[in-house]
Amino acid sequence: MKWSLIQKTPNPTVEAYGYHDPRVKEFLRQEGGLRCVYCAVNENALGGIQAFHVEHYRPKSKPEFRALENALSNLFYACPICNRFKSNDWPAEPHRLFKNSSYPDPSSVDYTILFNVNSKNGSVVGTKVASKYIVERLYFNRPQLILERRQYFLDQELTELNNEYSTLIPLLGKKGDARSIKYLTKLSEMSNKLNQLLIDLKKIPSYELGDVTKKKK
Ligand SMILES: [Zn+2]
Repeated sequence: MKWSLIQKTPNPTVEAYGYHDPRVKEFLRQEGGLRCVYCAVNENALGGIQAFHVEHYRPKSKPEFRALENALSNLFYACPICNRFKSNDWPAEPHRLFKNSSYPDPSSVDYTILFNVNSKNGSVVGTKVASKYIVERLYFNRPQLILERRQYFLDQELTELNNEYSTLIPLLGKKGDARSIKYLTKLSEMSNKLNQLLIDLKKIPSYELGDVTKKKK
């Protein structure tokens, strides 16, 4: 679960084909690294490309943005949940220091700087006025995202521990060495946690907007 700046490479065919065209969706998908531009969830967590949407950053239903309907600069790859929550919401043009409730442009701002992710419990807080608004409005602390983030951090921890362990193996003595036992115990604890998280993740039903809204505070 990592945000990154979405790099826009000019592509005249996007405008020519229009945002409905599957080739455009595929282009935006690659550009966005197979992740939701807002919550950064990987498409695999929600059923892949079929489930994901082409997002109009400046809502196409607003008359002032109608001309941007097929503009590459206005199109992104987003998960269906963020897309529906955002809908035609456009509270204001983004402030350059993020001091208002608004959506910073993901192609000019790396969203990583807007959020703090708690690596222990998987929750997210906005660090700016704009990102506090986004966390609330797009419901960034929904159960699925919490589990996805916890899995991500646990995965990382497990990899680091594994690496550490494999560099230690040649230095260790016999099997049953105290240090070796300590590491093996820790590794197995983490792998149990990871497995439990994967089970929890599978238990989360696919969302309908109504379901998610009900869970909101
Ligand atoms: Zn999303």
